[in-house]
Amino acid sequence: MFKALVLDQVEGKTVAAIKTLDVSDLPEEDVLVDVKYSSINFKDGLAITGTGKIVSQFPMVPGIDLVGTVAESKSDAYKAGDQVVLTGWSVGERFWGGLSQKACLKSEWLVPLPSGMSPEVSMSIGTAGLTAMLCVMALEEGGVTPDKGPVVVSGAAGGVGSVAVAILAKLGYEVAAITGRAETEPYLRGLGATTILTREEMSEKARPLERQRWAGGIDTVGDMMLARILAEADYNATVAACGLAGGFKLPTTVMPFILRNVRLQGVDSVMCPVERRIKAWNRLQTDLPATALGEISQVIGLDDVPEYAAKIVNGQIQGRTIVDVN
Ligand code: NDP
Repeated sequence: MFKALVLDQVEGKTVAAIKTLDVSDLPEEDVLVDVKYSSINFKDGLAITGTGKIVSQFPMVPGIDLVGTVAESKSDAYKAGDQVVLTGWSVGERFWGGLSQKACLKSEWLVPLPSGMSPEVSMSIGTAGLTAMLCVMALEEGGVTPDKGPVVVSGAAGGVGSVAVAILAKLGYEVAAITGRAETEPYLRGLGATTILTREEMSEKARPLERQRWAGGIDTVGDMMLARILAEADYNATVAACGLAGGFKLPTTVMPFILRNVRLQGVDSVMCPVERRIKAWNRLQTDLPATALGEISQVIGLDDVPEYAAKIVNGQIQGRTIVDVN
């Protein structure tokens, strides 16, 4: 028997409760994992509070991230005792996820925990950190090097934003952080941001082209903010768009693309191929300073999850939240 957070629908509303389950309740897949930690991402917040249409069927064990030890395996790729990480693949949305002491998973969804990385560190990275790394890789692939000029990060005090700021600063980029919470300025400067911009000023409606300010951008917010970043992007800039914390619209024009050669690169971590995931996890080990992770992360218990799910949806979480499920 083990404990898991279970989402159900009661009179059209999503209800989250900690339940005791048996291994026979789990879906049948080829690897059974003893989960050590999960984490809370924006998407988990939407799923657990029922705010967004994230969960496709109930009952559902949420949790899009997990790290743990293989307990049983029918796959040649893993054996009992191996430490594995999972992010994405619609786990916690269509398939039972990581906010549970045990999970039964497809072997092809797993990646080995990078050697030398602790389980706790892997979850302080989680989907948000992996996505931040994929965004940085997208900027590099677009030719954005530190000598080209400043890079702007939106939703900077959130999970993706915090990790992105820390990686970019470690790699030598000049980082401008956009935040709606003035009180996070010392935190963001501690992660390596040298300029702090307010959400308000960066959400103002932009003209089709504004003064060129950014060699690159990582946007977790969408809507007016992404439109402004594009209008302010330098000639040849790349902007990586991965989020919609402020909305899913994009009220822009073709001008930045056709007159300034700007590249808008979408970034998805959910279906990202395994080879690219492994590359990103290895980069995270070298390019994300351990000291930054200490600043970024907090650990909570399974009982605290509903409260923190509501907080992340309301934009009240700073950095990353790790869940100790045991
Ligand atoms: P967080 O809630 O941790 O961070 C989001 C941040 O966005 C907040 O901290 C806040 O930053 C800012 N924000 C919140 N609400 C608004 C608003 N109304 N207007 C403007 N800014 C706002 O979430 P995550 O970092 O986990 O995720 C960020 C986004 O990225 C989400 O939309 C998520 O769905 C998406 N995502 C996408 C992935 C992919 O594969 N494409 C993977 C992971 C996440 P501040 O307080 O600094 O202003």
